[in-house]
Amino acid sequence: MQSVKGMRDLYGEELEYFQFIESVCKQVMHQHGYKEIRTPIVEHTEVFSRGIGDSTDVVHKEMYNFTDRSQRALTLRPENTASVVRALVQNKLMEHNDPLKLYYIGPMFRYERMQAGRYRQFWQIGAESIGVSTPESEVECLILLFQFLHRLGLKKLSLSINSVGMPEEREGFFIAFKSFFKSRSHQFCPDCLRRIEENPLRIFDCKIPTCQEALTDHPLLMNSLRQDSLDHHKQLKELLTAAEIPFTENHRMVRGLDYYTRTAFEVYSGELGAQSALLGGGRYDQLVHQLGGAQTPAFGWAIGLDRLVTLVQSHGKSSVQHPSSLFIPLGQTAFRLSLPWLTQWWEQGLNIHLETRSVPLKKSLATANRQQHQFALIFGDGEIEKGIVSIKNLTSGIQEECSLSEVEAYLNKNTNH
Ligand code: AMP
Repeated sequence: MQSVKGMRDLYGEELEYFQFIESVCKQVMHQHGYKEIRTPIVEHTEVFSRGIGDSTDVVHKEMYNFTDRSQRALTLRPENTASVVRALVQNKLMEHNDPLKLYYIGPMFRYERMQAGRYRQFWQIGAESIGVSTPESEVECLILLFQFLHRLGLKKLSLSINSVGMPEEREGFFIAFKSFFKSRSHQFCPDCLRRIEENPLRIFDCKIPTCQEALTDHPLLMNSLRQDSLDHHKQLKELLTAAEIPFTENHRMVRGLDYYTRTAFEVYSGELGAQSALLGGGRYDQLVHQLGGAQTPAFGWAIGLDRLVTLVQSHGKSSVQHPSSLFIPLGQTAFRLSLPWLTQWWEQGLNIHLETRSVPLKKSLATANRQQHQFALIFGDGEIEKGIVSIKNLTSGIQEECSLSEVEAYLNKNTNH
């Protein structure tokens, strides 16, 4: 039996990197006052079709939809922002928490074509700053993001920003863009021919190179923005400069989801190859209202954890090592007598794994070496008689005797933290 295509098991070193990144994420979020939220993995399909937009690739082609036994139309979440917004409306989270800062960590599901770095179950970490419409709230959320990335040892990343304006501002742009498109429609793919009718902005994120080429010299959405949106964009750029976060402007970057208003951004890493987008986000001032809440501005981002792990593994910090020892009791009496001591050491917080097989010492030591323990704690008849443990340093090979009551102090002093 095999796992479902595009869905993989996480274990060993890769999982340790996931856990390391999640722990750094939790520290940074805590420092900035972002609280965790966990929403169900399954939602009513409508949450995403209304929230993300029917004509986006995510909703149109990539969702895992199914009906349950009561014929409810349900979907495995393809992203978490729409669910977070549904949750905050349903649980009236804004009533006592305005502004509201939330983060999430969890698996998402998209039926995408398989490529390196692209999965059908993948993980995202996201931050949402809800209730504030200012560029200041955007820069705060971006500083948080870059602190997180820097703390993981990632530096060579490029931030690309754009403004996609408000829906009413896009109308003027669409007139100009449609006439541009008409003049070269034969150069676009069938999907883009559909998109020009349903949702022209989606043409910008078509993945087909000839469509990107056909967009050369397209009219700029920026030229249709009102003064307040232009000012917002200008202020954000000034704040990013003040925060010493380098960026470039990319007028084609519109993001694959429909809910963005004004600011949109992505962060890339050249080291990720074809799937170079590490994360994306932006402002979504109309989503809360669209999903049944009051008019509420909001801003957020989502980072692909699978891709982040690949980067951190090759270029960032190594995951935290957890120094540990293997305790090897030789025989049943030794095992029984060691239990109260072990219980005490575990309560004191020591990392001690226990050998429970009745195998020769040589075999236990080989296991201790293979599992990269720092020490082997050997406890046999001789040790019982003297009230000691023989502690073997598995790197140097040196063995020392240590009285049972001093094991905690010994390990705390000699462990490589
Ligand atoms: P999006 O929700 O589409 O804005 O995606 C945000 C980030 O999630 C991307 O930049 C990727 O890092 C990650 N991501 C999106 N789709 C996938 C996927 N199918 N496999 C792995 N990572 C993904």
